[in-house]
Amino acid sequence: MPDNAAAVEPAPRDFRSTALYTDARDRLQFILLQTLVTIVLCYQLLFSQEAVVSTEAKEFIILGLLLFIAGVMFLPARLWENGWPIVALVLGDTAITTTIIYISGNAGSSLYLIYFLVMLIGAFAPSLKQMIGLSIILCAAYGAVLYLDSLESGSLSEGRLLGITVLLIMAVFYGATTETVRRERQKKAGLVEQIHMLKRIEAELQTQSGQDWLTGLANRRRFDEMVQQEWARAKREEASLAVLMLDLDYFKQFNDTYGHQAGDTCLQRVAKAINEVVHRPGDLPARYGGEEFVVVLPQTDAVGAARVAEKMRARIESLRIPHLSSRASDRVTISIGVAAMVPQEKGEPAVLIAAADQSLYQAKREGRNRVRSHVGESAVKKA
Ligand code: GH3
Ligand code: MG
Ligand code: MG
Repeated sequence: MPDNAAAVEPAPRDFRSTALYTDARDRLQFILLQTLVTIVLCYQLLFSQEAVVSTEAKEFIILGLLLFIAGVMFLPARLWENGWPIVALVLGDTAITTTIIYISGNAGSSLYLIYFLVMLIGAFAPSLKQMIGLSIILCAAYGAVLYLDSLESGSLSEGRLLGITVLLIMAVFYGATTETVRRERQKKAGLVEQIHMLKRIEAELQTQSGQDWLTGLANRRRFDEMVQQEWARAKREEASLAVLMLDLDYFKQFNDTYGHQAGDTCLQRVAKAINEVVHRPGDLPARYGGEEFVVVLPQTDAVGAARVAEKMRARIESLRIPHLSSRASDRVTISIGVAAMVPQEKGEPAVLIAAADQSLYQAKREGRNRVRSHVGESAVKKA
């Protein structure tokens, strides 16, 4: 039987990396949109009446802009999780915007607001300091355009300088807002991490305590300990030790039909039924892994064990849990393999478990929803 123990407790999904990825995709969309708007506005400037550029230069610039957009579009989304591509993009965008505003001859108009769009991309910079730094570079670039413009026109009005102040105020205001959002996110990520850690600790404690987290039965670890103990005891007392190996029939189809949640509830009901059948103090039902259970029955021979097994099989059938995709019945059923033996000097419990496993496969092969017992040499000995 395959060891399904690992499948019982699935490794927790790495929520953080998934969240980061979604974040990166969101960023890419936002960045693309901002870059596009910025560049379309710059393009408009190129064709303004004051623009003093030759047609060849315009073609050259348009081609450059298209290449720039393509570059942003085809870079992998994850890249935008890093700081440096954001910084490079903002600097590139600032350079393009500044150059086009300058050659358009439109520096004095309210088109300096295009810089604000570039600033929005800067909000993704890794820290507030970097974002403010980028905004200052941006304002300085605009200041330089205004200065060059004033050299040509011979005047620099206060109204134009006001543009730089507006940009700086925007940078501080927007920077503070994004910093607040950033802190909130960090807090949330920290909380999620703590919840995962608590869950891991809880699962570990449950494993250590020997209890299965889903069904409340003994877990695989406890079973392994107990079967060793009982094996040693049976060897000393020359008594028969029995093991039942149980596996739900067509349980994969059950999950596929009714969902994993319903599958888990079904496992809990089956575990409860198994537990209700055994009543001797030493009897130990356990969850072996996935949808497999195992029962250790000390001082029980093959006949007695087969009787307990049949009771379990009938009990589970009588639960009448609908299972329309099962080929064995219209309700949930279980196949059981039985093995019993008096431990021999050189033997070990693994032999007994393997024998029960073989019987289980026989029960499956012969149509499921049935009990089959091992009739090997060691199993019949004294049993
Ligand atoms: P068979 O009659 O041959 O046993 O068929 P099967 O579909 O039951 O096959 P198998 O015994 O290999 O079943 C394994 C399936 O059991 C895989 C998975 O869908 C389901 N399973 C295993 N562990 C769990 C669990 O913890 N919860 C739920 N809901 N399903 C589980
Ligand atoms: Mg199985
Ligand atoms: Mg099964």
